[in-house]
Amino acid sequence: MPAKYIFVTGGVVSSLGKGLAAACIGCLLESRGMKVNLMKFDPYLNVDPGTMSPFQHGEVFVTDDGAETDLDLGHYERFTHAKLSRDNNWTTGRLYEQIIAKERRGDYLGKTVQVIPHVTNEIKAAMKKVAQDVDVAIVEIGGTVGDIESLPFMEAIRQMRQELGREHTLFVHVTLVPFIAAAQELKTKPTQHSVKELLSIGIQPDILLCRTDRFLAKEIKSKIALFCNVPDEAVITAKDVASVYEVPLVFANEGVDTLVLKHLHMEAKDRDLSKWEDIVHRVYNPKDTVTIGIVGKYVEYEDSYKSLKEALVHGALAHNLKVQINWIEAEGLETGDKSFEAQLEGYDGILVPGGFGKRGIEGMLIAIRYARERKVPYFGICLGMQTACIEFARNVVGLAEANSSEFDPATPHRVIYKLRELRGVEELGGTMRLGAWPCKIEPNTLAHKIYGKLEISERHRHRYEFNREYEEPMTAAGLRISGSTPDGTYVEMVELPDHPHFIGCQFHPEFKSKPLEPHPLFSAFVGAAYEYGLKRRAEKEATEVELFHRPEKVTRR
Ligand code: GLN
Repeated sequence: MPAKYIFVTGGVVSSLGKGLAAACIGCLLESRGMKVNLMKFDPYLNVDPGTMSPFQHGEVFVTDDGAETDLDLGHYERFTHAKLSRDNNWTTGRLYEQIIAKERRGDYLGKTVQVIPHVTNEIKAAMKKVAQDVDVAIVEIGGTVGDIESLPFMEAIRQMRQELGREHTLFVHVTLVPFIAAAQELKTKPTQHSVKELLSIGIQPDILLCRTDRFLAKEIKSKIALFCNVPDEAVITAKDVASVYEVPLVFANEGVDTLVLKHLHMEAKDRDLSKWEDIVHRVYNPKDTVTIGIVGKYVEYEDSYKSLKEALVHGALAHNLKVQINWIEAEGLETGDKSFEAQLEGYDGILVPGGFGKRGIEGMLIAIRYARERKVPYFGICLGMQTACIEFARNVVGLAEANSSEFDPATPHRVIYKLRELRGVEELGGTMRLGAWPCKIEPNTLAHKIYGKLEISERHRHRYEFNREYEEPMTAAGLRISGSTPDGTYVEMVELPDHPHFIGCQFHPEFKSKPLEPHPLFSAFVGAAYEYGLKRRAEKEATEVELFHRPEKVTRR
């Protein structure tokens, strides 16, 4: 049976959560026994988001095959079992790169190469490729209807309906129904306009997912239905919720899955969302809170660490905890005095995430030293592992000028240096060590205890590596290399055996963490942080009790 397609478009404004909506529709269909795949088209001209600033674009999500993709693919993986690769995220830039290469090779046999049919054909072929071997392919079109640059994608999905028919294609439009405080009213006009815009390019939406901060009354739904030419039942309240993991339940309550299956003429088993219900129950009923301080450069814009944030939530859920994440601006720790202590105090765990460039590095080193010396649980990811090695080389081994050649090319002690396979490569796009690589874990290490196995595979995105020339002095001083590539070339994990929980990894475990399958490195870190926090609180209470029982206090009373 050929796959059916669901096309997800967005209207009115960006940031309505189209990616999340697509992921949650996938989640619901899986709960009914369907096999799904998801893909996203991004209308911008960059070949991939790999070279874009995290401020502009948010996180770059890395797949197993090493594609640098849009962060919506992170939602897809967290909510479904779809196996994503570079086939699941296309930009206009990459499509044109491919088309122009074909044109240069002469593949078009002298024809004029045009948006219709050549670009649209390329788009349709990309959709069909991800639809192999699944029941439903969910295709998200980036941008907002009305954008000039998304037109070829809109045209391609219009043609897909034309080609495959109504029973095999479904258009979901995510739109906004704002509440206007001055009028004390929900407004349907933006949605009406947005649907008109879609109609003008030949697309009649089948389902409207209306983002709103309150439930839409029957009359409002009917009004939208009437003006937008859909049945009342196809107007869905997509109400804001405190946790994204509640969205599948919200959609289920509104009957989205039933609507989709009915439209696509598909038979499915009864819905089973029990695992998601359990997660949501835990999200809203934590037994306690754990506080993690993240020391990084991009603190102003949290989307740059989307997967990291979610992975910490998953790690906390594994212990029925709520995680309070505080972002600490790394540069703000570089005051030259002791004020960093006040900034770093009170955290149950400290984390330095991935990052690029020199800014804030000294602040990260201050935070790492603090965590190491005071035995605060520490987790260093990618850059956070590299900086942990630099800190150790400087302050334990005594190599005061130790650094990464990324931050100081002239350093006499290049503890971290450019990946040997990348020497001489100056181009920035797609030239990192990317994607899943196997790693061998050393027996009887913290890493071994956490993973419970000796062979793992994790996703990478880096240009620099640990310099094995410093292995001997560093390990002699107490650093343990607990993970390496199977051939021993690259150091993948380090830890400090004389610290309760100090671990660094060269890869990005956050990309593989899911609410239903929390990543062991995150659950172990959050668990250690919580224990440390409990101990610290108990000690503090003990001192307070002691102070209270001081004889002079008693006599004064
Ligand atoms: N800038 C470092 C490198 O390129 C770390 C990269 C990262 O943290 N993703 O190796």
